[in-house]
Amino acid sequence: MSTQTSRKTSEALYEVAQKCIVGGVNSPSRSYKAVGGGAPVYMERGEGAYFFDVDGNRYIDYLAAYGPIITGHGHPHITEAITNASRNGLLYGTPHRLEIDFAHKLQQAIPSLEKVRFTNSGTEAVMTTIRVARAYTGRELVVKFSGCYHGHSDLMLIAAGSGPATLGSPDSAGVTKATAKEVITTPFNDIESYRQIMSEWGDQVACVLVEPIVGNFGIVEPQPGFLQAINDITHEHGALVIYDEVITAFRFMYGSAQELLNIRPDMTALGKIIGGGLPIGAYGGRQDIMEHVAPLGPAYQAGTMAGNPASMAAGIACLELLEQPGVYEEFDRLGAKLEQGILEAAKTHAVTITINRLKGALTVYFTNETVVDYLGAERADSELFGRFFKLMLEQGINLAPSKYEAWFLTTAHTEADIDETIVAVNRAFSQL
Ligand code: PLP
Repeated sequence: MSTQTSRKTSEALYEVAQKCIVGGVNSPSRSYKAVGGGAPVYMERGEGAYFFDVDGNRYIDYLAAYGPIITGHGHPHITEAITNASRNGLLYGTPHRLEIDFAHKLQQAIPSLEKVRFTNSGTEAVMTTIRVARAYTGRELVVKFSGCYHGHSDLMLIAAGSGPATLGSPDSAGVTKATAKEVITTPFNDIESYRQIMSEWGDQVACVLVEPIVGNFGIVEPQPGFLQAINDITHEHGALVIYDEVITAFRFMYGSAQELLNIRPDMTALGKIIGGGLPIGAYGGRQDIMEHVAPLGPAYQAGTMAGNPASMAAGIACLELLEQPGVYEEFDRLGAKLEQGILEAAKTHAVTITINRLKGALTVYFTNETVVDYLGAERADSELFGRFFKLMLEQGINLAPSKYEAWFLTTAHTEADIDETIVAVNRAFSQL
């Protein structure tokens, strides 16, 4: 058990950070606002499954930088690839070989990517798939599922309303009402609501955005038939299906969620894991659709840093590690051990939880209900999660500071790490 000394240096850095960085953080999810506040931990170094903070505390890390760090922190194979690439210059602004190698590798893993384009983030990738879908269909409306996060482009910052389906309202100041009117939101795993929306609006809908396995209100799998129905209904109305695999690509299976679930979208957005820890995004899909992208077609998308050699090299190296035999079986084995340990701890200490797990990713919801959609996740106890988060942090276990996020295993986590985590969970549950 890692014993925490103090986090005084983190606290001092947070004071300083707030004077120069808005809110002290460069992404709102990094603040501890959702778990009762306080100074976030300032990390100094990551190594494998561990983090070391600026006060010398060690943590077993399950945040994995919100997903990308699937092979653990500072994996030597990825570090070496980045180092080698950077020796040849960081950015060319011209085509180069590594981007072709990487595009091929992605296509081999995910055959629906008949053509690919790299971006710098998942946000850009999703945003562009929508633009391309609109260019292809000549329509403007977009459908998304409540609680699914697809990056922070204006269109995708539309909240889920309560009730079966609502025309969106802006979820962020600065997003116009006109933009919100272009997005329809409906509950995940509810085929009938989707069917109704499409029967009413289908002839104006350009595309539907869906995380084939949700990662943004915890890990929530599609119920049998849900994704097939989405495909069928969408295509009946002449619209396109876009899978947001920014979290799920290479997460549960090398071929990504679409291979795991044996289903194909028209377009896919990618990010996170495919950059091996460096900034990246990518999108791709059917050739006839992708040919609408400039310079071949009228839909414009560009990027000074897009396809930069270091991100390409890191991504290739990361996929080389993930295509080794047994990687996902081991995620499943360790994930099952972790899930079992947490469930037993909950039983011992009479804490009510539900766990959603797929392979090496799981979410612990403080609720007694099965979570299949955003409203179910929303009903999980936030206050209890906040206390649990802090009790775990004090014992050297780093989780995401939100009840909606997943715990991610990496290839660096060991049985001993899981055992240590389960001891910490027992202590935390005993104090809730
Ligand atoms: N799509 C999904 C499913 C995500 O989870 C995220 C980020 O968390 C994004 C898109 C946006 O990706 P990025 O943060 O790289 O812009």
